[in-house]
Amino acid sequence: MTSSARLLIVGPQGSGKGTQGARIAQALGVPAVSTGDVFRANIQAGTALGEQVKAITAAGNLVSDELTGQIVRDRLSEADAATGFLLDGYPRNIQQVNDLDAFLTDRGESLDAVIELSVPREESIARLALRAQEQGRTDDTDEAIAKRLAIYESETAPILDVYRERGIVDQVDGVGTLDEITERITAALTARDITRPATV
Ligand code: ADP
Repeated sequence: MTSSARLLIVGPQGSGKGTQGARIAQALGVPAVSTGDVFRANIQAGTALGEQVKAITAAGNLVSDELTGQIVRDRLSEADAATGFLLDGYPRNIQQVNDLDAFLTDRGESLDAVIELSVPREESIARLALRAQEQGRTDDTDEAIAKRLAIYESETAPILDVYRERGIVDQVDGVGTLDEITERITAALTARDITRPATV
């Protein structure tokens, strides 16, 4: 039995990775660490960090690797992430993969699985349009969506090749009901013997 659950969920904008990531993290009893959520919370609260990233995120650009990496390392150093965590939105490019590797290797840790949530482009665009109406996210403008999808294709999708070479990627069909998709992810993790880690 694997005694850790160090996970990453990857998928294009509108794939539902935030929703599914939160569900899976909850089921496994590990913290969901979403860089996008951290930035949004800071923008909302008007912190210095929020001020720093506000314009960048609204335009659909990436925050610097240094700043994002520091935020993730700080969060993963908290006690509740000792045996597991679910990363959502980080790493998002090869440099961030290398930064995360260095951090985890230093601690004698590594990712146990990477969930690739697949949805057809038209489906994710339709979902984003709906989310723009419902939530009014500042980065759900047509322009910022196009920018984020382009960055996903050019910078984020390639990180899956790195993890695929390590044999830790599970591709999951992201079209279906919320429960169906959660069930598919759970089945993939169970097949890897990844279950709720024992608390330390
Ligand atoms: P989405 O996946 O829909 O683009 P996220 O909530 O993951 O939304 O991210 C929102 C924004 O936060 C990104 O467009 C980017 O500006 C910033 N961000 C999130 N994660 C990272 C990251 N790993 N590196 C750089 N910027 C990031």
